[in-house]
Amino acid sequence: AQTERLQKVLAQAGVASRRHAETLIEEGHVAVNGEVVTQMGVKVSSKDEVSVDGVPVGREAKRHFLLYKPRGVITAVTDNKKRRVVTDFFEDYSERIYPVGRLDYDTSGLVIMTNDGDLANMLMHPKFEVDKQYVAKVQGIPTRADLLPLTKGIILDHKKISPAKVKILSTDKAKKTAIVELVIHQGMNHQVKKMLQSVGFPVMKLSRERFGNLDLTGLQPGEYREIRPRELQDLK
Ligand code: URA
Repeated sequence: AQTERLQKVLAQAGVASRRHAETLIEEGHVAVNGEVVTQMGVKVSSKDEVSVDGVPVGREAKRHFLLYKPRGVITAVTDNKKRRVVTDFFEDYSERIYPVGRLDYDTSGLVIMTNDGDLANMLMHPKFEVDKQYVAKVQGIPTRADLLPLTKGIILDHKKISPAKVKILSTDKAKKTAIVELVIHQGMNHQVKKMLQSVGFPVMKLSRERFGNLDLTGLQPGEYREIRPRELQDLK
């Protein structure tokens, strides 16, 4: 029979992202034919029975949520410094819900949480270019000309950053700060902070307000809701 790597099987079954699947294996949660496997690179076929914490994989219902991540929460399933993580909000679910993509610790806003590996892989793929809208409070008061490079595309850390849509929403002359809206498609580490920093306006506060067709309407920080089937279809 054809064999595949264990972490790939777990990801495709919707148990976790590849990377999280590796963590689950390392931490001894995964068994093949009843025997715990902690080594990476084990291959299995469709005849092998794979389970996570004793639960056979492939039988979990797919769940999709939209979380309003507060500031001061790590977008991960565990944190070695014991800080709050996004999965803490989903402790009551028996499914293994994990985040799609990442927001910085000090960034608030929309994070998709799911156990749907196919969806997670699709949304994370570089070719999948959905609008991500951010609102940033910056130090200094930019003019439109100051922000123009961001709308043309820039090079950051030797990587091409595609053109962003940029709007100055408001300015505070007394405090010398401004609120700027940015719509980007990529998801490089600290991308928005780096973009605004590169034109001379350090980010003081950042929030992701929209991801494709999904926004935070009706939610407070720390709250979440189920993504409706129709919204899910539109997102894809
Ligand atoms: N860009 C950033 O700089 N931080 C985030 O959390 C998301 C996008």
